[in-house]
Amino acid sequence: MTLTMPTADPAVLARRSEIVAALRTIVPGEGVIEHPDGLKPYETDGLTAYRQPPMVAVLPETTAQVAAVIRWCWDNDVRIVPRGAGTSLSGGALPLEDGVLLGLSKLNRILEVDYVDRVVVAQPGVTNLAITRAVEADGFYYAPDPSSQIACTIGGNVAENAGGVHCLKYGLTTNNVLGVEFVTAAGDVLRLGGRGLEPPGFDLLGLVVGSEGLLGIVTEVTVRILPKPESVRALLIGFASVEDAGRCVAAIIAAGIIPAGMEMMDRPAVQAAEAFVHAGYPLDVEALLIVELDGPATECTFLVDRVEEIARANGAASVRASTSDQERNLFWAGRKAAFPAAGRLSPDYYCMDGTIPRRRLPDVLGRIRALSDSYGLGVINVFHAGDGNLHPLILYDANQPGQLEQAESFGADILKICVEVGGVLTGEHGVGVEKRDLMPVMFSAADLDQQKRLKCAFDPKLLLNPGKMIPELHRCAELGRMHVHGNELPFPDLPRF
Ligand SMILES: Cc1cc2nc3c(=O)[nH]c(=O)nc-3n(C[C@H](O)[C@H](O)[C@H](O)COP(=O)(O)OP(=O)(O)OC[C@H]3O[C@@H](n4cnc5c(N)ncnc54)[C@H](O)[C@@H]3O)c2cc1C
Repeated sequence: MTLTMPTADPAVLARRSEIVAALRTIVPGEGVIEHPDGLKPYETDGLTAYRQPPMVAVLPETTAQVAAVIRWCWDNDVRIVPRGAGTSLSGGALPLEDGVLLGLSKLNRILEVDYVDRVVVAQPGVTNLAITRAVEADGFYYAPDPSSQIACTIGGNVAENAGGVHCLKYGLTTNNVLGVEFVTAAGDVLRLGGRGLEPPGFDLLGLVVGSEGLLGIVTEVTVRILPKPESVRALLIGFASVEDAGRCVAAIIAAGIIPAGMEMMDRPAVQAAEAFVHAGYPLDVEALLIVELDGPATECTFLVDRVEEIARANGAASVRASTSDQERNLFWAGRKAAFPAAGRLSPDYYCMDGTIPRRRLPDVLGRIRALSDSYGLGVINVFHAGDGNLHPLILYDANQPGQLEQAESFGADILKICVEVGGVLTGEHGVGVEKRDLMPVMFSAADLDQQKRLKCAFDPKLLLNPGKMIPELHRCAELGRMHVHGNELPFPDLPRF
């Protein structure tokens, strides 16, 4: 474990019984968990290398209870970590030893389906897939589709600005959320956005999407739903080189085609996925592209032919177009099983998430291979090729001393390359605790100070999800005017998160 979290405040720990009792008056029954066995499920999230049970977990069932819990914590200076399903891959929901874990999973009802405005209003604990399930019989769906959609919550999606295969054409969470109900750090309930496209005033909704639980708690979400396309087809395209595949991706976009999804897997990923789900992938290729096209049937047929033409012009070694939904689903089965397939190759893997300009794909993949050799750790690459979002899976064994640290260092090197070639530190998994200390690689001191000021404007007591996303968050009153003499920090006893 190489990342540090804010140190626990002994004064808060000493008040544990009082805090638990106060929370029980707000959320009665089984909604407050204090026994170590009951807290165990909350000790980690998708970044499983990091574990820390919370001081107490509270599972409210209404917005009023959420607001009352937050207000009590504000009045009593107790820190809070919000949690949806706990699938964050960047440690965003990692608890604090002296913090309240605020689980939103019991706010799990769909409140309204409105086909006239084409929106669904859902509580934050509703899973991503449940939104589509609620409207699919009527021919609609919710477009952002993280691979974790069966488990992750819409509140967590808003907090992480989650993406997925179909976000290339239909946008990320931020492009599909129209409004939220939001509880501030002091416990006030606000409504941001609505059902229309352009609400007046500052775009606070834009700020809240992707704010990783640092600015407030999302207690209701209004999302846009779309009619299901008349026709959907996919192509499976094999290439003898990653360069050819990268060029093909660029050429498809340059031809004015925005596929519904465009995913790439490198040779090790293809081999691992095929061995796992037998999707019928060609095993003699260096890179495999899955390109999905949707729309009216005639348009779809035209686009399938056009993409095949472009692929052949860019050196495709094999092209197969799906002729049925069953075949198309099989094409996707391998890609969707790439993570568990990696789990069969190695006791542990570490999923990175960075974004690069599409044209740099071959170059960056080559550098990742070179790093893999120098670290002596395997890596398989699956990624959202259309938007340049890489997901290298670094294979390691946590039981071998030093391998976790090696894997983390390898991951950090990959992210630094992403920034160096003009990309960004994260694509869709957020910063969390995982990439917090890499933020200065991407942002200047002035950029980071501005982000800290924003945090302070929403949460001046720094009670919401401290230790995540923002490196070295000092007390708001010190921000921008802390003078250090002889390496002696003023107020050395204050926790600096
Ligand atoms: C196998 C696997 C595949 C994945 N694939 C994808 C993918 O394709 N695309 C993608 O984008 N992500 C993916 N993820 C990452 C993860 O599923 C997403 O980040 C998801 O949005 C997290 O939702 P959650 O409900 O699990 O949130 P959590 O993990 O519980 O929390 C995530 C963050 O949001 C905050 N938070 C949660 N709920 C709220 C709320 N109501 N209000 C305020 N803050 C809140 C938490 O404090 C935390 O910082 C994957 C994860 C796994 C394990």
